[in-house]
Amino acid sequence: MEVFTMDRTYRKVRSFGVWLALAATLTFCFSTAVLAAPAQYGNAVKLGQAASAQASGMLGMDWSQAEVIAVTNAGYAMPGENSTKGCLDGIAEATGATVGACTLLTLQSRFDQPLWFAFFSKKTGQCVYLEYESARAAKALQGESPESIKAGVAQMARIDADYLFAHAADFSAQLKKGLFGNNAFRIVTTANAAARNCNSETLKAIQVHDHFCPGVSSGIVLANYVRHNLLPSPDAGCFVLSVNPWCKEDALTTLLNATPGKRSYAVVYPTGKQRAAWPAPLNRACSVIFTQQKGQPWHGTVLGFDFSKAKAEYGKKSFGNKVLDKLHADLWFMDNMDRAEAMVEPLKEFDLAAGMMPRDLMQPGTDLIGTLHKL
Ligand SMILES: [Zn+2]
Repeated sequence: MEVFTMDRTYRKVRSFGVWLALAATLTFCFSTAVLAAPAQYGNAVKLGQAASAQASGMLGMDWSQAEVIAVTNAGYAMPGENSTKGCLDGIAEATGATVGACTLLTLQSRFDQPLWFAFFSKKTGQCVYLEYESARAAKALQGESPESIKAGVAQMARIDADYLFAHAADFSAQLKKGLFGNNAFRIVTTANAAARNCNSETLKAIQVHDHFCPGVSSGIVLANYVRHNLLPSPDAGCFVLSVNPWCKEDALTTLLNATPGKRSYAVVYPTGKQRAAWPAPLNRACSVIFTQQKGQPWHGTVLGFDFSKAKAEYGKKSFGNKVLDKLHADLWFMDNMDRAEAMVEPLKEFDLAAGMMPRDLMQPGTDLIGTLHKL
């Protein structure tokens, strides 16, 4: 009994100690977060709000009417090494666009690229583009009146797909004059995809790839094919080996979480001449997908992608403008993802020897194509 009582007392004391430690830790974390984040975060929020206000003025409408889709490289661009992540919250608060509703989209960008925002109104098809000179954006992010900063580039144009297809020559002329800086293709393709209720998986790949193109579309189709036909279970291993790389790689790595850092992705860069000389069916191969059930050998499937079938479907219509030609193909892919899976060709299947890893094929000095051919 005595022992029990002492044990209870000890437990109480220990329990109190644990709570005290937890409380101290939480207080420290909270105060650290409050001390470390707010100034720069708050400035970035204000910058996002200021951009939203400028765009609302240019569009001539309240955000409640605009049905806005915001596209930006905020969160990636870092003028003067300052984070722009808070701009996203500023835009969300001001416009109502959100990540969850797929109306606030961030396109991957290198840290040293100029910060830009695009505000597209689904209601009118008009899109405002704001781009900031990096030195000025850096000052705003460091607290020099972020509310009053004006974009160095402030443009507005109608960019809804049907309008652009009907006014291709005008759009070409606007592009020549520098419409939307270096980001016209990115903004036009992404905004139109989101405006047509593009599914979130496709938008995920688009955001990593930083634009929507037929190439990344083919990667989304290939990833869907892998999901529906090749992956046997959630705990199965997956390794992607691309032998003919193009924009599809960013969809495959993103949607299958098969990344080189996790040793589940590899790529070779052969020339067209080298590929043509490969023994059939490897001369038509684009990626090899390896899957593994626990305890089993790795299973390989060589896949090809027949773009000619896709082109036969969406036609050879040309707008005399590469942005619009690609947008036209993108929208076909978006509306026909299920049918597009028919363009994936399983060319060959094989098992690796027990204990052999797909990455073993990629060791320096290994004859990759010769080995794949013999398997
Ligand atoms: Zn691309």
